[in-house]
Amino acid sequence: MRRDGENIMVILSSPSGVGKTTLTKKIQQKYQSFKISVSHTTRQPRSNEVDGVDYFFVSKDEFKDLIKKDKFYEYAKIFENYYGTLKETVDKAIIKNDILFDIDWQGTKQLSKFINLNLIKIYLITDKKELKQRLIKRNQNSEEELEKRLKAYDEDITHWSDYDYVIINKNLEVCFKQIEQIINSYKKKFNFPQKFG
Ligand code: 5GP
Repeated sequence: MRRDGENIMVILSSPSGVGKTTLTKKIQQKYQSFKISVSHTTRQPRSNEVDGVDYFFVSKDEFKDLIKKDKFYEYAKIFENYYGTLKETVDKAIIKNDILFDIDWQGTKQLSKFINLNLIKIYLITDKKELKQRLIKRNQNSEEELEKRLKAYDEDITHWSDYDYVIINKNLEVCFKQIEQIINSYKKKFNFPQKFG
């Protein structure tokens, strides 16, 4: 993977339901330089999700074929489904844009192996009780799925130390400001331009 001059890559990881998707969209809205990396997944689309916007929804066979053809920079199996970042998506975007990745700790480990990237790794965490409330409110998962995601929370947070920053998401606005500060101070440090939307 190439490092493209002044463009940066930001990974946002968290246990499921912490508010990451909202934050990535907020960052993209404010900073015109940012593109969200749209992953491929074998998971079924939720009612509000659009193919090609939220994910590229593919079958397991299609996904496995892409693995075989070495098309991914990283991929992982999460909750019985595959998720992955296509090389082509990143290689095209990084020429002109900063990139935001909403990927898990397994994908973060794989991307970290590419040295010389302008890569910032941020882990978002929330209180388990709050997370449960949020997942229930979201109401997009079955009871069984909810239990699975809560269990996964315990496993997921053990990987926080693989990240450059850990942010506690008590309030989305505060959290957003903290992410902005991290990105802006990184850009300032290396004298990279900041392009607001
Ligand atoms: P969800 O099914 O809730 O959209 O996502 C489940 C998990 O998959 C989230 O933690 C999300 O960050 C992760 N994820 C989404 N896309 C990718 C990807 O391309 N690679 C990896 N490793 N994880 C991903």
